[in-house]
Amino acid sequence: MEEAIKAMEKCDGKVKVGAVLVVDGEVVAVGSKMGGTHAERSAIEAARERGLNLKRAALYTTLEPCVDINTGQRRQCCADLIVSEGIPEVIIGRYDPNPNVYRKGWKRLRDGGVRLRDFPMDLRNSIDAINDKFMDFFSSGIGPSGGAKIDHKEPAKFRIQFSADDNRYMEIGWTLCGINAAYGSAVDPVKVALARFASNFDEVDDPTAYEFGHSARIAVGEVGVFVGPEACVLVKPKEIQSGPDYGAENHFVKFDYVVRIIKPRSHSLK
Ligand SMILES: [Zn+2]
Repeated sequence: MEEAIKAMEKCDGKVKVGAVLVVDGEVVAVGSKMGGTHAERSAIEAARERGLNLKRAALYTTLEPCVDINTGQRRQCCADLIVSEGIPEVIIGRYDPNPNVYRKGWKRLRDGGVRLRDFPMDLRNSIDAINDKFMDFFSSGIGPSGGAKIDHKEPAKFRIQFSADDNRYMEIGWTLCGINAAYGSAVDPVKVALARFASNFDEVDDPTAYEFGHSARIAVGEVGVFVGPEACVLVKPKEIQSGPDYGAENHFVKFDYVVRIIKPRSHSLK
């Protein structure tokens, strides 16, 4: 596990991932995510070049192996590659905070008959410390109401789970547009609107009644509404900082939110 974390340091991108293959207690190949090639693939290809049989190997990877996100992906995803190589055991450092991958890599491996274990917490923390901006980029909260702070360098996505008992969620985005205001940004099927002149959640009667789009400017003290097929999430920014005073590339958004369910969860899906 420590060798895999060390391999993270050689990566060139923002998201650092390291992987090592171990056979009979010995490290036989090391991979670092580089130039778009994932660490797991790089370790597996290095082992292949040496003609090694991986049917008794364990793969230690600092990030959950990926699954196909885009249709028509050029390369086989790492989870499928691991299964097709017949690697019997994978030890995962950190589950991918990207909701498009989170736990899907684990599931794909489990369904492929791979034995799975996790890194211990102290080593997971070491991984997060190396990838701190990546981990901040996808943060999340649990409804039906709450508050959050996002401190980030890029457009930030925030995932709000409807409630502790309802694991459906909506993803909302923030991009900054200056001091004291931000653009709420939404990706289909979610849309966003400003509840113009409202200054608290109680003033919003039917949250689906507004003019929705993919982006809406929401200033501190105003109320914005994200609407999706199953719920609305009302947001109220309390503090927004960006620009030269805060650090030209850094953005900070502190906001309250409340979830209003449109479509109750169907119990037959449970
Ligand atoms: Zn991958």
